[in-house]
Amino acid sequence: MRYRKVYGQSQEIQCPFCGNQATTKNSQQLPVCTKHTGKEINLKCVCGGWLDIKESKHGTFFICMDCGPISWKKAWETNDLPIRSFEDL
Ligand SMILES: [Zn+2]
Ligand SMILES: [Zn+2]
Repeated sequence: MRYRKVYGQSQEIQCPFCGNQATTKNSQQLPVCTKHTGKEINLKCVCGGWLDIKESKHGTFFICMDCGPISWKKAWETNDLPIRSFEDL
């Protein structure tokens, strides 16, 4: 790599149900906290479609069939989920 990607490196993944740090995953492979491993969630895209949960070497992200890859921040804002520390990103 010729340059270093700064953003996303120290991103704290948050549980979509409570906003606490996600340390494990639910059955959808979505990062959640230990309290919410049994819960599932359907995340909407801004276009109204549903987001697919995808995994890359950089971590979990979302894909919309129409809009393409969606960041956590965008998905969180669209779905009005608890936000703790996105200001730091
Ligand atoms: Zn939780
Ligand atoms: Zn979309």
